Amino acid sequence: MNVQMNLSRNLKDKPADESKLGFGHIFTDHMLMINYTDGKGWHDARIVPYGNLSLDPACQVLHYGQEIFEGLKCYRTPQGGFNLFRPRANFERFARSAERMGMAPLPVEDGLETLMALLDVEKEWTPHQEGTSLYIRPTMIATDNHLGVSTSSTYLYYVILSPSGAYYASGLAPVGIYVEDSYVRAVRGGIGFAKTGGNYAASILAGMNAKHSGYAQVLWLDGVHQRYIEEVGAMNMMFVYEDRRIVTPVLNGSILPGITRDSVLKLGKHLGYETEEARMDIHDVIADIKAGRVTEAFGTGTAAVVSPVNKIRFQGEEIGIGDGGIGHITQQLYDVLTGIQFGKTDDPMGWVVHLK
Ligand SMILES: *Cc1c(COP(=O)(O)O)cnc(C)c1O
Repeated sequence: MNVQMNLSRNLKDKPADESKLGFGHIFTDHMLMINYTDGKGWHDARIVPYGNLSLDPACQVLHYGQEIFEGLKCYRTPQGGFNLFRPRANFERFARSAERMGMAPLPVEDGLETLMALLDVEKEWTPHQEGTSLYIRPTMIATDNHLGVSTSSTYLYYVILSPSGAYYASGLAPVGIYVEDSYVRAVRGGIGFAKTGGNYAASILAGMNAKHSGYAQVLWLDGVHQRYIEEVGAMNMMFVYEDRRIVTPVLNGSILPGITRDSVLKLGKHLGYETEEARMDIHDVIADIKAGRVTEAFGTGTAAVVSPVNKIRFQGEEIGIGDGGIGHITQQLYDVLTGIQFGKTDDPMGWVVHLK
């Protein structure tokens, strides 16, 4: 796909203090845009100065939420190069999200190729400090300008880039989670497996309530029985059993199929652990935690990679997991996975894509 270049004449200063980057506050000089029109397909791929979008107030996405996104990172390697981690998986998922939302899928090759063109211009925005990265946010919105609910005949795809700080500024830190038993995030047959803003909108109130109660994340139960574990915040959830078994809820349509989740399952096996995808009843898991059969728990996602969980609040009771610290297997998975992503260790699975 041919990409037109309209480069900025006023380049911004790159952040001087990389310890203060945070997540998603700063954006680079340029963004990528591609339009879709029925009959014409995807067209007018272009790299333009980062700036506001101009949208008609009747624009479909603003009323009916037809929107999807992705999240991945560009890492600086010790050799002075740049790595992406399984980017094809992101564009494959983006196409599945588009299909579920009735949107025009972006061909995977076009997504990859145009992202490479954008990174070729912007890669020097990738920060240098340990654990930092350039966060990549592909997004698609429905842009027809009328209030009738129907599928849009036009879409806008864009990619913005944000230099982001180390998720763990001072090493992995365990968090407490709150089992939400009134609200649900997604239901069977709904849009839970799609990476779309609506799932986040459905989750914000419960997230606020959990924070007020002193917990970092919500542990979501399924939307039908409110009994089976689905996700934790916007991460997938894993439990480690005493027999060196890593168990995660099986994908059921309402769980987002995380690329970190898939990577942990494959890497876990490679490292000699047993891995299992199962329907996980919260009552059984709580009993297993209390009996000491569950020794570690953690969330997985691109932002944190691995987020250790050391306590869980369920039906008014707080239950500690393991010894309250960071589990040995949790730490190992984090170290190996980030080692691969940052190009510090070899890549036995062939997951890394080097920028040219
Ligand atoms: C993006 C996301 C994840 C994690 O997916 P990764 O591909 O590992 O980043 C998990 N749950 C939800 C709801 C998500 O949106």
